[in-house]
Amino acid sequence: MGNLTLKSVSKSFGQVNVLKGIDLEVKDGEFVIFVGPSGCGKSTLLRSIAGLEDITSGQIVIDGKEVSAVPPAKRGIAMVFQSYALYPHLTVRDNMGLGLKQAGTPKAEIESRVQEASALLSLDPYLERRPAELSGGQRQRVAIGRAIVREPQLFLFDEPLSNLDAALRVQTRLEIARLHRRLKATMIYVTHDQVEAMTLADKIVVLNAGRVEQVGSPMELYNRPDNLFVAGFIGSPQ
Ligand code: ADP
Ligand code: MG
Repeated sequence: MGNLTLKSVSKSFGQVNVLKGIDLEVKDGEFVIFVGPSGCGKSTLLRSIAGLEDITSGQIVIDGKEVSAVPPAKRGIAMVFQSYALYPHLTVRDNMGLGLKQAGTPKAEIESRVQEASALLSLDPYLERRPAELSGGQRQRVAIGRAIVREPQLFLFDEPLSNLDAALRVQTRLEIARLHRRLKATMIYVTHDQVEAMTLADKIVVLNAGRVEQVGSPMELYNRPDNLFVAGFIGSPQ
């Protein structure tokens, strides 16, 4: 569970070719970071994996099954966005449980999963609050909690920390690393932040204009970047 294969994935919006044949292998439990300049297609790629965009051609295979006909809710994927997209009128508890409720999960099961996730994220004291009564970091933790309760095999994070200040970014990054160790799920994570990329990743995928420039461990990319573009992103002086 939690294996993902992309085979020549392409996506166009009208005449604009945004993803140009992405091939990638992600193994169960891996922490994979996508980096690349703004507009290179990172969010489009995550949304395609999640099923929020239909790809133009290619294949997305999760645990051996091609998923183009599988609706987003059935792909075993949870996505955490930069903007938390919490419901302002619902409590933290209800924000975290809403997806399960809509999926028809029994109430007792929802309660126990929300309890577990809030303990994992130190959110217990805030369960009855509404999003407006939380800090940015707490809101992002609720958004992560909402993903965890669905017990996905695959987490997709789209620049989840970019709205947080520096100290909170460090704290939340450590929390995500801890979650990865605890849950042993596959995580794919888009970031602009080199420190996040170097510290979280088993594997970094450098994207450029809809193509994969290079894939490797942080140290491989740092020590042996294929070209100046990769070196520029990973920070090794060449
Ligand atoms: P990134 O996340 O790497 O910054 P995106 O995946 O958001 O890049 O966008 C890649 C390109 O696709 C951009 O040129 C963007 O304008 C375009 N794009 C994204 N979504 C749409 C859409 N729904 N309709 C048209 N163009 C889009
Ligand atoms: Mg983006």
